[in-house]
Amino acid sequence: MDQYDIAVIGAGPAGSMAAKYAAKAGSKVILLEEHSCIGWPVECAGLLGEKAMQESELSRGCIAVRGMKGATVYSPGGFHLKFKADECKAWVVDRRLFDRSVALDALRCGAELRLRSSVRTVEWDGKNSILTLADGEMIQAKIVISAEGVRARLARMAGIPPSRRVLCGAQVEVPFAVDDPQLVEVHLGEAPGLFAWVIPTGENEARIGLCARDRGCDRLRAFLKKDVIRKRLLGSPISLNVGGLPLGPPDTTVADGFLAVGDAAGQVKPTSGGGVYPGLVAGKIAGRVASKAANEGDCSAGRLREYDRLWRAALGRELWIGMKANKALEKMSAAELDELVSYLASKPALLRTIEEHGDIDRPSRLMARMLLHLDWDGVRLARLLRRILI
Ligand SMILES: Cc1cc2nc3c(=O)[nH]c(=O)nc-3n(C[C@H](O)[C@H](O)[C@H](O)COP(=O)(O)OP(=O)(O)OC[C@H]3O[C@@H](n4cnc5c(N)ncnc54)[C@H](O)[C@@H]3O)c2cc1C
Repeated sequence: MDQYDIAVIGAGPAGSMAAKYAAKAGSKVILLEEHSCIGWPVECAGLLGEKAMQESELSRGCIAVRGMKGATVYSPGGFHLKFKADECKAWVVDRRLFDRSVALDALRCGAELRLRSSVRTVEWDGKNSILTLADGEMIQAKIVISAEGVRARLARMAGIPPSRRVLCGAQVEVPFAVDDPQLVEVHLGEAPGLFAWVIPTGENEARIGLCARDRGCDRLRAFLKKDVIRKRLLGSPISLNVGGLPLGPPDTTVADGFLAVGDAAGQVKPTSGGGVYPGLVAGKIAGRVASKAANEGDCSAGRLREYDRLWRAALGRELWIGMKANKALEKMSAAELDELVSYLASKPALLRTIEEHGDIDRPSRLMARMLLHLDWDGVRLARLLRRILI
């Protein structure tokens, strides 16, 4: 039986980053991926903030399709607000290429990769874990990192609870008359739980999708029929992606000889549905902590709690505030969303603040700055928000 310090299950961005950092720290690492290639099937809109690009440690030129300078936010009643910065704030990437590049980096740092290696079971014997693959092969590892994505069957079997809720995502890539190829469109009120989006991938093509608490595909079909979208469609979709989006991490993300990272640990920003940035940040921490614990010969849950503590210190507050904002948005009626969007649109100073400080990876900092602009109308807005939050 092959023996490793660390076995990482799943070669998505979180798993590959964890494998890279564990290998960099000197551990013998195996990265196990059930598919025969990396980054497929795509279950993502591929919109990454500047911080996510930096965390990936990849060269932007290799993976970015185009840069985005801002957004147009639509309310259900047709009000909209637009903000456009001078520089790019986010990047549309080819997720297949992105995942492949992060995995290649892990291999360059010394991790081993096995494709078509679906892990069926993980058993902890008090010192090591035995992983059994679909073909019956067994692998021994001191620590297992589950980066299995949203389903996270093995993490659940290891006793790590599921995330608080899972949204249904659906997205098509379609020929489309884009209004402004440097602006993302956000449509509020179209998908309870999050929102619908239009992400330009060219002058005449876009990724149109949504994440909602239920019926993602039905809701997307309905959204595509709305005038604001239907009138700009230039042809049939060329791809359809569906997938789950976990929100709200569980109380613990470690067990004996085991830790969970990325979607498997509910590490997704509830304001935007972005999971790549938190997955990369937590992946690095997971790789480092797992490697240290394996070296020390203590792989107990107590020792691995360092990972839980460190990733929450890096991301916990942002995810917590994001969850509050997500719930507040979900509770708002169509009329309240109209009021919110038209109020924000009428405040040029506020829009300038969004343009200057907008950051989809750390939105709470922008929210705090926006509070500074509260005037009489703002107090009214604060009252509205308080009513929603309590
Ligand atoms: C519709 C939609 C749009 C999204 N858009 C964005 C976006 O624009 N920006 C953003 O940042 N995030 C977005 N997300 C979220 C983002 O896609 C995820 O958060 C991210 O992919 C999570 O990365 P991960 O490495 O944790 O898991 P994944 O990327 O899901 O990777 C998990 C890997 O584990 C493998 N695996 C699973 N089980 C096993 C097993 N037993 N054995 C071996 N291998 C296994 C899988 O094959 C897969 O390769 C979107 C999600 C959805 C659903």
